[in-house]
Amino acid sequence: MKIYLTQAETRRLEILEKRYRNAARKQIENRVAFYHKYTGGSYTSITIRDQKTRWGSCSSTGTLSFNYRLIFAPPKVLDYVVVHELCHLTHMNHAPAFWNMVGSVMPDYKIQKQWLKEHGQELTLESYLEQKGIPIVLS
Ligand SMILES: [Zn+2]
Repeated sequence: MKIYLTQAETRRLEILEKRYRNAARKQIENRVAFYHKYTGGSYTSITIRDQKTRWGSCSSTGTLSFNYRLIFAPPKVLDYVVVHELCHLTHMNHAPAFWNMVGSVMPDYKIQKQWLKEHGQELTLESYLEQKGIPIVLS
């Protein structure tokens, strides 16, 4: 179902999105700094994006990218993605050594990984607002 929004409603959604993006940046930067003490490796920058299917990535030049919609996930799930990308600074693949490292930093990571697989598609601004009882359409 497509919801048609007025210009004012669209503008308001954009402002809300920006606010959550800023919150995501702050939270992710904090968590990267925290877990970096355990993972080591060196990163050059952190970027916050909005992608439909990716939660994070780590480039060969050390740029860590994260999906801003992680701010709508339980904190432990956001932490899992942070740990996952930080471990890519050491292992640029998903070989057993990579998963061992993830598990050594976050022993219950499989629970968070599974949660993301099952609920990731529900992490949208619209469904978050709905969940919080914040109206999208103003009337
Ligand atoms: Zn990965």
